[in-house]
Amino acid sequence: MTSQFKNYIAGEWRESSEAADNVNPSNTRDIIGQYARATAADAERAIEAARAAFPAWSRTSPQVRHDILKKVGDEILARKEELGQLLAREEGKTLPEGIGEAARAGQIFLFFAAETVRMAGEKLPSVRPGIDVEITREPVGVVGIITPWNFPIAIPAWKIAPALAYGNTVVFKPADLVPGCAHALSEIIVRAGIPEGVFNLVMGRGSVVGDAFVRHAHVDAITFTGSVPTGRKLAATCIENMKKFQLEMGGKNPLVVLDDADLGTAVECAVNGAYFSTGQRCTASSRLIVTEGIHDKFVDAVTERLKSLVIDDAVKQGTHIGPVVDQSQLDQDLSYIKIGQEEGAKLVYGGELLNRENPGFYLAPALFTEVKNSMRVAREEIFGPVATVTRAKSYDEALELANDTMFGLAAGVCTTSLKYATHFKRNSEAGMVMVNLPTAGVDYHVPFGGRKGSSYGPREQGSYAKEFYTTVKTAYTLPG
Ligand code: NAD
Repeated sequence: MTSQFKNYIAGEWRESSEAADNVNPSNTRDIIGQYARATAADAERAIEAARAAFPAWSRTSPQVRHDILKKVGDEILARKEELGQLLAREEGKTLPEGIGEAARAGQIFLFFAAETVRMAGEKLPSVRPGIDVEITREPVGVVGIITPWNFPIAIPAWKIAPALAYGNTVVFKPADLVPGCAHALSEIIVRAGIPEGVFNLVMGRGSVVGDAFVRHAHVDAITFTGSVPTGRKLAATCIENMKKFQLEMGGKNPLVVLDDADLGTAVECAVNGAYFSTGQRCTASSRLIVTEGIHDKFVDAVTERLKSLVIDDAVKQGTHIGPVVDQSQLDQDLSYIKIGQEEGAKLVYGGELLNRENPGFYLAPALFTEVKNSMRVAREEIFGPVATVTRAKSYDEALELANDTMFGLAAGVCTTSLKYATHFKRNSEAGMVMVNLPTAGVDYHVPFGGRKGSSYGPREQGSYAKEFYTTVKTAYTLPG
């Protein structure tokens, strides 16, 4: 019998009137479980519970919050193999990638456990004699957390941990495709002793649960990671309702490869950045911009490397790239592969469906060359194992092409020249810049986020996260 999983609302595991199957993309015959699908009324109950729990939670000693977050982090790390296996099974990342992501989630909880006791304010002299000025940070209130499917445990962790650390209460809606990791993480948070109402898991549709979060007067802030169209819609509603919000959205991240690059490094950066995790990373290097002198050698070497990759069941040992997450994402990838060919780009490798032992969404990683930056395949986020190569005559042209995009999440350059590396770091219009490293792959203790159409609002992660999860108070005292 298929296991049933409930929502966690107001301190109780609760059934909903609807449930949805969680399907393994490596083997569509494998149903991981049936997960509750909340109604708008369930969302409302969760929001009211979070509202009611806020005054007490916001005044807890940091030690209480520290101890709970530390327990969560410790349990995740102790169970990272099992959680990584669940992640690979439901999302399609390979097992090592799944375990790595689970470990990352644990480290994030431990980081924010420590942040609870690092909250500092400022005390200044007033410009008026005899008066003291104090600047302190306070929690924002009820935080609505809306997450995408591509990092099913790390993204929830990097939103839930700071929200709770800084004294907010939480209503959390994971993506419909990956309720498994969200449920497992919620069980851990509950087991760690989170008080009733402080944390609520509300699995369900974006148009029902997500929309309820964004419209409800008792949700004070919304943190969202997902696609640009959803982010835009959500932003408009947040503004209408005067909510604080933060958006992390898509990318079309350039990796510039210069003539003087180490070829091996450039190929590894490109293949890892563009295709690992099935190319389903917001920071994926989907645009490879390559100068003339190294272009042909680079394309040949990337193609050879792609031939050596094993595309198979995500949990199978030896798999380098797992399946695409579902049929609809696969249809999107295939449609862009067709568009690229129609636009005149040359498909030099991959792009075809693959059959494996079990029915799944297997796609051979696709490489396009002769791509103009004006083509749709170079401008729109595909979000699959598809990369484009665009030629550049010089470093200056490569930089111009790299910045010629509506997105600004991550950018990379492969070069052995300090001059070009330094210039690129200064002049790239991206929130995160990598030199001789894949555009995907970041640390958890430093800010994460982008510019232009990729992001809106304060950065996530590291101590910069407090910009979003706290609000500043300025107090004036005339000692009486
Ligand atoms: P999506 O926009 O379809 O969904 C994201 C979340 O929003 C889901 O939980 C969904 O249920 C919810 N949602 C949908 N409609 C809603 C509505 N009307 N109101 C409120 N919530 C709603 O994105 P996705 O397909 O899950 O994720 C892929 C996208 O996420 C890609 O564009 C990727 O680049 C982006 N992403 C960005 C980052 C980043 O940090 N910049 C990280 C990971 C993924």
